[in-house]
Amino acid sequence: MKRPIIAIDGPSGAGKGTVARTISEKLGYRHIDTGAMYRAVGWKANLERIALDDEPAVAELAARARIVVEGGVVSIDGHDITRAIRSPEIDRAAAAVARLPRVRQILVQRQRKEAEAGGVVMEGRDIGTVVFPDADLKIYLDASPEERARRRAVDPAHSGRTAGHAAVAEAIDARDWSDTTRTASPLTLASDAVRIDTTGLSIQEVVDRVMKIVTERL
Ligand code: C5P
Repeated sequence: MKRPIIAIDGPSGAGKGTVARTISEKLGYRHIDTGAMYRAVGWKANLERIALDDEPAVAELAARARIVVEGGVVSIDGHDITRAIRSPEIDRAAAAVARLPRVRQILVQRQRKEAEAGGVVMEGRDIGTVVFPDADLKIYLDASPEERARRRAVDPAHSGRTAGHAAVAEAIDARDWSDTTRTASPLTLASDAVRIDTTGLSIQEVVDRVMKIVTERL
């Protein structure tokens, strides 16, 4: 029997990364961070000075790039970009290339292939709606915009400390707007997803809630 696929979606700063990683460790599943793939493409497009709205050129780059997202390490064509992709510049670049349907098509195809065997916790924006509409369990993590900005501002992995709260809040707003209003696979709650509002909850509390749902449903 195929092992389960757990989809975790939600906006930036809702805690998807930490929660997805922790529950994948508890279950002995693979954790696949699909946002890192969009970040990798945005990073490489910047490096090659390709305009982020040049769909044919960015799609061509995505099609030829070898992107590896495994065990917390992200690389593209052999370059370790784990740290380089967590910056305000790449936040913007990833959201820009994620608007391009041809880029999404290429990355979605790879995401489906990577999770073929199951036993996966995949996090992103469109996992439960587009990548795996038949996922065994869909979780939608949300939190108020203020809380998400506050979390990002103290997260060293996102260079928030240097950006300041107001700048982080503004950047989160811009990304929310881009992710929810784009025509290609906008961020939206799947009708069969379990939505958890994590505002005011600790990571441990969120993990406990998700694990309870996993035990009940799978
Ligand atoms: O999750 P993360 O913040 O790393 O994702 C970076 C960007 O990639 C998001 O703002 C979003 O625009 C895009 N993304 C997406 N679909 C996914 C994952 C990420 O459009 N499945």
